[in-house]
Amino acid sequence: MKNALKNFLRALIVLIDGGPQRDQFQLEQAHIAGQHLASLDQLLAKRHAACNHRKGGLIRRVKSDTSIAEGLNNGTSASYAVRKHQMMNGDIWVDCIRCGKKWRPPVHQDFNWFERKFRTQRFQNYVAALVEYDTACNFETNNSTSSSILCNFYDRKTGRQANGVIREMYATIGG
Ligand SMILES: [Zn+2]
Repeated sequence: MKNALKNFLRALIVLIDGGPQRDQFQLEQAHIAGQHLASLDQLLAKRHAACNHRKGGLIRRVKSDTSIAEGLNNGTSASYAVRKHQMMNGDIWVDCIRCGKKWRPPVHQDFNWFERKFRTQRFQNYVAALVEYDTACNFETNNSTSSSILCNFYDRKTGRQANGVIREMYATIGG
């Protein structure tokens, strides 16, 4: 969803900057679609924030849909209800089985792509995202981490390791 919103915003910038198909109707459509995406994002964020991502929990009395949701959101086990998968570039992806929240390694350039203003703020956001991702990777669980084949990627010109390029690619296509 985050990536869909990002792609939409990029398309909108092209339209505003005078893309070939720019017209009022398209701008309005893009605006409406953007509002839908933003409200969906808010709903998802609320759902993710309500969940403690743990296994177990009890629903004592079903009084309403809310009591079921509360039970599902408040797992009581020491184990987290997450699955972890190691991608081919070595990154670990973590997903909560209960609320669907996904933790992916933050892509540095995503925090650095506008003007130079607010650089400190962006850096702090990047560090906060790194800490959150690292915490998720260390969630205790009795599930085993699955893994793909592991590869190292190198930049042809510099010969330097370029596993981060694969991370950026994954971030662009979503997952
Ligand atoms: Zn969760």
